Amino acid sequence: MDAVCIRERLDFINQKIRDAECRAGRAENSVRLMAVSKFHPAEAVIEALNCGQFLFGENRVQEAMDKFPEVCRQFSQTELHIIGGLQSNKVKNAVRVASCVQSVDRIPLLPLMERFCADYGKKIRVLFEIHTAEDTKSGFRSEDELRAALDGFAGGLYPHLIPAGFMTMAPLTDDQNAVRSSFIRARSIAEKLKSDYHGFDLSELSMGMSGDFEIAIEEGSTMVRIGTAIFGERDYQKK
Ligand SMILES: *Cc1c(COP(=O)(O)O)cnc(C)c1O
Repeated sequence: MDAVCIRERLDFINQKIRDAECRAGRAENSVRLMAVSKFHPAEAVIEALNCGQFLFGENRVQEAMDKFPEVCRQFSQTELHIIGGLQSNKVKNAVRVASCVQSVDRIPLLPLMERFCADYGKKIRVLFEIHTAEDTKSGFRSEDELRAALDGFAGGLYPHLIPAGFMTMAPLTDDQNAVRSSFIRARSIAEKLKSDYHGFDLSELSMGMSGDFEIAIEEGSTMVRIGTAIFGERDYQKK
């Protein structure tokens, strides 16, 4: 993917986001764009940074470690979130490289993240991933579990972690109704927990990818995570 092309695609997606905000009667710039750079090289990330795109997402911690420390040295505004399922043995590097983990999908990750953040003297934001689609594996499956996680925060267990909201993945299907109901479900759980735990700012709702971000914006997304529509198809053979 060449530089001109990345710039054009970013402009195109940003325009689509603004249009969707407008159609949905939402404030302009209420939705942030994350560029998902998994399987694309650091050069592609730098092209996007040169276009003013500062927020990135990576699925795999090792890949993030290979690319981002150097990118962040060159571009201090770079913001990286981990968005993929996190194994316990990857937590240490995840909290080192990222400013937010969006894929917190089980309570045992929290004390681990807390410990490493305390070691690094660093605070990071966390989003709770909500399971809303049968064909995905990750995410909290019950509201009670989410409440148990938030109760830990309310009890002061995780001083280095900042609970910031929720994330979900819709099913990978052409059935727009199935996609929409997944987003509606996430939104409704998020709204309930936001009002029950109003001591925290849980306003982030990360949902929507290349194929479904406009629906996500209509259903209340505050951040869309776009890979393919910015960087092109991923070549899974290369890694
Ligand atoms: C890969 C990925 C994306 C981006 O997907 P595209 O369809 O390429 O836009 C978004 N969110 C998560 C969690 C992903 O793993």
